[in-house]
Amino acid sequence: MKIVVVGGVAGGAGVAARARRIDETAEIVMFERGEHLSFSNCCLPFALSGIVDKSDKLVLMTPEGFWEKYRIKALVKHEVTEILPDKKEVKVKNLLTGECFTESYDKLALAPGANAILPASIKGIDRENVFVLKNVSDIKKIEVFVSEKKVKKISVVGGGFIGLEVAENFRAAGKEVSLVEGLSRVLKPLDEEMAQFLHKELLDNGIQLYLGKTVSEIGEGEVVLSSGERLPAEAVIMAIGVSPETKLAKDCGIELGQTGGILVNYNYQTNYPDIYAVGDAIELTNRLSHDKSRLPLAGPAQRQARAAADHMFGETHSNRGVIGSSCLHLFKLNVANTGLNEKDCKEHGYHYDFAYTLSTDKVGLMPDAHPLFFKLIFEKPTGRILGAQAVGKGSADKRIDVIAAMISMNATLEDLKELELCYSPHYSTARDVVNQAALVALNLLHGKFRQVPVYKVRELVESKACIIDVREEKEFARGHLIHAVNIPMSQFRERLSEIPRDVPVYLHCRSSQRSYNVICALQKLGYTNLYNISGSFLGISFY
Ligand code: FAD
Repeated sequence: MKIVVVGGVAGGAGVAARARRIDETAEIVMFERGEHLSFSNCCLPFALSGIVDKSDKLVLMTPEGFWEKYRIKALVKHEVTEILPDKKEVKVKNLLTGECFTESYDKLALAPGANAILPASIKGIDRENVFVLKNVSDIKKIEVFVSEKKVKKISVVGGGFIGLEVAENFRAAGKEVSLVEGLSRVLKPLDEEMAQFLHKELLDNGIQLYLGKTVSEIGEGEVVLSSGERLPAEAVIMAIGVSPETKLAKDCGIELGQTGGILVNYNYQTNYPDIYAVGDAIELTNRLSHDKSRLPLAGPAQRQARAAADHMFGETHSNRGVIGSSCLHLFKLNVANTGLNEKDCKEHGYHYDFAYTLSTDKVGLMPDAHPLFFKLIFEKPTGRILGAQAVGKGSADKRIDVIAAMISMNATLEDLKELELCYSPHYSTARDVVNQAALVALNLLHGKFRQVPVYKVRELVESKACIIDVREEKEFARGHLIHAVNIPMSQFRERLSEIPRDVPVYLHCRSSQRSYNVICALQKLGYTNLYNISGSFLGISFY
């Protein structure tokens, strides 16, 4: 069997290495048009701050290494320029010599990735001070420019994962950084209110944040926004998203899907059964919404590569689609999400609700215990878990990984409530954040209490709704909502006459727990119109 692979990084190198493990006699040839193979894309931003101290370390394997260890012929600076499916051949151009040649295949794997979007509508987009971050050569170009031009002021355009990581790492390197994002918040997979924590973290760390703004022009030493604002920027990093690299596929009649990614079947075969495609270039199915989508992430690319290589040798995997799990480090915060967010649920007509919890990520007596802002989204009335988001200084990723596993197993809140997790005070609480979230969500599902989300607080304050803050007096004195009445948990039994029965009453404390307890007690005393402000004062402080 002769296997030809287009693209030599996450997906491509994955197919080639897996194919070799399956068949020692297969001839495997991998073409990569860039300078490097098998590098760590995900670690690229960390070379900007020196966390990865030399950009050369990002390259995990050389062509020589591929040959010596795996007998895979890997050629860099070789671009596959055409596919001839009928002849089962590809045309290849050696970008160093200009030489063109033809290579035959029995099976062809396409892993060409995705390209950073550079809108031609932005004047000056092709200036020498505009960069993208896709590979090791990009990092080297940025390093040289920043050091030769003694760049101090940098503008990052795009508040997705890559933009945020780039902004953080440049800031860590002592640069003055502005971040421009067209939406009203960063990191689209998060719901609006969860993204507020990230905004605060960015501002607290000296990043100038321009939300709901787009770039219209890039000039010498500045970025001009559509609003007319001018930001000083000696270098600009464009990170507004990627589009799948599909030209090669399209030109030879490979079908594309509705999202523009390469259409593949259950086994990652294109409409030509001997041509497979994996990674950022393909279209996927979201297993929750059943939507066609794209998910340019390394984990899915690796899984797809293994499945495609296996299928070349007759083995089939269980491809159940993706749910979309990701995580991010942002200064002192850890951020993670999985599954559907509220916007997705609304768009797909889900009957859903959500629980916020603000439990500490480990026992409060332990060093480094911090609140973890956790949002758990579930379907009504089934209680099926649909998604979750976590932000905090502790391990958000661990909690989201648990939820991702639960979603993958079609679990419900009841399953999550009963989930037995490991515990020691250094790591979590005896009832972990995720168990706690399930309990709160079950109470909501069963109508044991009602809530209003923290993002409704502004409306409540403006409409002079009856808000009772059940924190103790000293806490209230340190800061509180306008119009809120302080009836501490320790006093409410003696002050029932101050709690009206004829209007809705909104209660909150620091983390929603004490207010929940007060609500339980008041409900037993016949109060019916009570709402817990979920997200509570810790959340409110971000509004
Ligand atoms: P790529 O890894 O991009 O490889 C495609 C390769 O194909 C490219 O090198 C390209 O030069 C080559 N190619 C294209 N066309 C041709 C052709 N015609 N001939 C020859 N070669 C060709 N994912 C995460 O899950 N977590 C993270 O933290 C994370 N961080 C990231 C940070 C950055 C800065 C970037 C850029 C990406 C990050 N990703 C992350 C995404 C992840 O790296 C990608 O999802 C993954 O690399 C996709 O693999 P791929 O093989 O499809 O594409």
